[in-house]
Amino acid sequence: MELFDCIIVGGGPAGLNAAVVLGSSQRKVLLFDTGQYRNRYSHGMHNYLTRDCIDPAEFIEISQKEIFKYGVQLLHKKVVNARKNEEEVFVVKDEEGTLYYSKKMLIATGLTDPLPQVEGFEEMYGKSVFHCPYCDGWEVRNKRLGVYAKNKNGFDLAISLKGWSAHVAIFTDGVKKFKPHEKEELAANDIAVITLPVLKLAGDDGMIEKIIFRDGTDYLLDALFFVNGFAQQCDLAETFDCEMSKQGKVLTNQYQQTKTRGLYVAGDADKDMHFVVVAAAEGAKAAVIINKEIQKEISKQRLANAKPV
Ligand SMILES: Cc1cc2nc3c(=O)[nH]c(=O)nc-3n(C[C@H](O)[C@H](O)[C@H](O)COP(=O)(O)OP(=O)(O)OC[C@H]3O[C@@H](n4cnc5c(N)ncnc54)[C@H](O)[C@@H]3O)c2cc1C
Repeated sequence: MELFDCIIVGGGPAGLNAAVVLGSSQRKVLLFDTGQYRNRYSHGMHNYLTRDCIDPAEFIEISQKEIFKYGVQLLHKKVVNARKNEEEVFVVKDEEGTLYYSKKMLIATGLTDPLPQVEGFEEMYGKSVFHCPYCDGWEVRNKRLGVYAKNKNGFDLAISLKGWSAHVAIFTDGVKKFKPHEKEELAANDIAVITLPVLKLAGDDGMIEKIIFRDGTDYLLDALFFVNGFAQQCDLAETFDCEMSKQGKVLTNQYQQTKTRGLYVAGDADKDMHFVVVAAAEGAKAAVIINKEIQKEISKQRLANAKPV
């Protein structure tokens, strides 16, 4: 049985940074990745020093070259199941049923963003339809911005967007959801609330031009942000019975440790801000603690095996 020091599931910024730290600490690391990193629809990444506007695919490509330098093995396979056996070894199963074994395990599988079921969203997502103003607000600053919020409350996002543009409207697609104090605050911030049922987003080549309502009227826009929740990209953390927040994020301690000994979660999957730099930092933190734990265990084993002096 080949025993890895650590198996990392998920090769986005969190998993890749953990792989670099562990690989350069001379640990034997196996990384699984299915290539569905969360910002793959984005035209350019922001908020990561020295990498402003980089194509996310290029960011991943550069990062993968770095992990190979430190001997990390990468498998482009999906992990379908993982458990811990009686010897405290993690047993990880890929989609073909092959088993892999490790002392420690890091889940860095990220989140997925369900798009509203409205014509136009899929085509325009990442080009003129976004959900994070910190990621995509700069390019559309001072333009006509909208917030689509049918299933979730878009109040906070609408108020926040006023930092990027004076022209903000919110669309609730047939739902009347705002409390009186929210309506007052939206009005005070000059944010139009439009409750008309939406037919579709219209535009050209992924660039939104307007929202068309079911009654035939429309509203001109340059960009549309939305809130529609998110979900874990895979249920590995749940199979280990990890504690989850109300929003469905894994709860860890400050070192990314879960309640299961040797199991860590980093990146968007756990409860913190959704930024590449945060995910990468969490991956690094987890890796340092994993490395320290492994070294301590080796040291203890040496002590146990040592002949009394
Ligand atoms: C449209 C968009 C634009 C964004 N723009 C920015 C930006 O400009 N700046 C910024 O800082 N942040 C941005 N973000 C947020 C950023 O994408 C995330 O914070 C970041 O990707 C989180 O990294 P992660 O490693 O936790 O997860 P991810 O990057 O999502 O990576 C998770 C990886 O795990 C893999 N995986 C999942 N399940 C399995 C499995 N069972 N087996 C094997 N592999 C698996 C996936 O294929 C994926 O590659 C954006 C997000 C979106 C949606």
